[in-house]
Amino acid sequence: MRHHRLFTPGPVEVETENLQALATPQLHHRSKEFSQLFDSIQEKLKRLLYTENPVFIFSSSATGAMEAAVTNGVKKKCLNLVNGAFSKRWHQITAYNGVPCDALSIEWNKAIKPEMVREKLDTGEYDAVTLVFNETSTGTMNPLKEIAEVVKEYDDVFLFVDAVSAMAGVKIEVDKLGIDMCLAGLQKCFALPSGLAVSPVSERLLERAKEVPPRSYYFNLNIMHKYYQRSQTPVTPAIPHLFALDRQLDYILNEEGLENRFARHERMAAIVQKWARTHFDTYPERGYESKTLTCIENTRGISVKELNERLMNEYGMRISNGYGELKEKTFRIAHMGDAQVQDVKGLLAVIDDILGLE
Ligand SMILES: *Cc1c(COP(=O)(O)O)cnc(C)c1O
Repeated sequence: MRHHRLFTPGPVEVETENLQALATPQLHHRSKEFSQLFDSIQEKLKRLLYTENPVFIFSSSATGAMEAAVTNGVKKKCLNLVNGAFSKRWHQITAYNGVPCDALSIEWNKAIKPEMVREKLDTGEYDAVTLVFNETSTGTMNPLKEIAEVVKEYDDVFLFVDAVSAMAGVKIEVDKLGIDMCLAGLQKCFALPSGLAVSPVSERLLERAKEVPPRSYYFNLNIMHKYYQRSQTPVTPAIPHLFALDRQLDYILNEEGLENRFARHERMAAIVQKWARTHFDTYPERGYESKTLTCIENTRGISVKELNERLMNEYGMRISNGYGELKEKTFRIAHMGDAQVQDVKGLLAVIDDILGLE
């Protein structure tokens, strides 16, 4: 089968060197060599995330880490901020686990504003907030910094951030923002295969988790912390992925450089958004467009399905249709991970050709 170059908002293209790292011979997860690998990854993840907190590694997709946040970190009631499919999922996850919660739901093409959060927190009902920083379903980037500043005003309210499609593509200063968990899967801006999720965990969250009746063993933060202190994980982790993660973090930090990586994402976003506004329109509220993917409003009424089939069959490239109800009404182009400016320009030129755009 022909390989389709992925311009989808997860999974994304994985560089050959990282695929090769997956084939490293196995280490035993209770060996000294494993702990060295674990420590090496820790040190690099802390630099990437501007944090002193331990960064937990989940052998699950990002959804598992979303579950960990709400099952460990809510004593009173959780406020789920909802403006898209993934934030809606986080509300469902919270409710499914029997954790008291309310959703603050707004239109999907709008961003969550700090005042909305303040108004809810002023009720005093909540001790935790979930925020999806970059709503991959709509291409909306919520104002994380401004929202984090509001949450900080409330001493006993913890902030959990889903940064799945932003981490390692956009700068997130976890400690400065006071984020208690900031989670991501590796198949998006890290440009690695799916299968691992990571999240720094604050000290006060570990304290609170001790007071919450255990709702999960696999996602129990205090069990994870116990093993973290030995540079291990409680269960057998996805060891091949750890080799690839270690290698990719070296690339990100030492070869490309963090600032260059963030700047490249900004450049690609500007190019795709300009193209989108020339030929179509962008879906999210102006000023809140994502830096890692563009959600395009299908103002020309093209068949997105046919466009994608031609992209795949004739050019070996793949984009994403709109998410759920936004299918055909929108489509999404990811510009994240290790995709380069020339890759994105090439994709847009091919779409211009297929659609006969000038
Ligand atoms: C992809 C994505 C998820 C889900 O990730 P899985 O790894 O499939 O569990 C959650 N939130 C956001 C914002 C995403 O983009």
